Amino acid sequence: MAAEIIDGKKIAEQYRAAIKASSAKFLVAHGRKPGLAVILAGDDAASAVYVKNKIAACEQADIYSSAYHLPANVSKSELLELIHMLNADIKIDGILVQLPLPKGINASEILAAIHPQKDVDGFSTTQAGNLMLGGECLAACTPAGCIELIKSTGIDITGKHAVVVGRSNIVGKPLALLLLQHHATVTVCHSKTVNLPAITKQADILVGAVGIKEFIKGDMIKKGAVVIDVGINRFDGKLYGDVEFESAVKKAFYITPVPGGVGPMTITMLLANTLKAACAIHNM
Ligand code: NDP
Repeated sequence: MAAEIIDGKKIAEQYRAAIKASSAKFLVAHGRKPGLAVILAGDDAASAVYVKNKIAACEQADIYSSAYHLPANVSKSELLELIHMLNADIKIDGILVQLPLPKGINASEILAAIHPQKDVDGFSTTQAGNLMLGGECLAACTPAGCIELIKSTGIDITGKHAVVVGRSNIVGKPLALLLLQHHATVTVCHSKTVNLPAITKQADILVGAVGIKEFIKGDMIKKGAVVIDVGINRFDGKLYGDVEFESAVKKAFYITPVPGGVGPMTITMLLANTLKAACAIHNM
């Protein structure tokens, strides 16, 4: 039997409707909408599309947004000046710097300048640290979206063996922490993992966050697993995941497609974090 497809677009729409309703309440209570500022530096085509989608999603969810498109030769001090201005802007609750930044600019230094309360990407040491300690936090959007997609299957995460392939600071590590918070037994794999298939085959919940087209094949998947494919790999004008969908769909019980799986939920969690940051500022 082929796996049930986890429809990220549909789930994201439901979330966005709820966020829109909460934004409307926020507007009534505070006389303004929650606000997100998005900074894009340079001419990376994929980044420009991501930013456009984020701004459109804000509009749909009644979240105020402002976009700043800076040239590729922007200086570190210009970027920092903009971030300091946005940190002080009371209309702005969340600041997102679209990565990658142009060559020569240290992304960590730029991201560190964002006020932690406005770090809706959840990449700052404050937010990542809060996540690690299990406290209230703005969790990184893609991992938070993955958790919602897993929950949408109705499967109880508690006690399940979750295997995350990938250990980046923006996906693999925060997702492992979120899965732990949901009481999964978590294994994190990476490029130095020995005999990866032997581990992935144990997974009740398997996440591919590798960045290699169709890296995880059906024969690496346990029958009945929930498979979450984070990968976005562009090849010949098409998008591919980190999971080989054709073979995986025969083994998994639930699987996310690429596109239309994790991607829409990532943007949704950005909206959710912006609303959360706005409410936190007003102790709502
Ligand atoms: P990174 O390149 O930062 O991390 C990739 C991870 O995969 C690393 O931990 C690396 O291990 C591991 N890896 C690489 N090769 C292997 C291998 N042969 N076996 C096992 N593990 C391996 O990528 P990101 O985490 O930023 O992104 C991962 C994917 O998710 C990409 O396709 C990206 O485009 C996509 N993505 C999608 C998003 C969405 O909204 N859908 C959002 C963010 C990312 P090591 O640490 O040892 O190098």
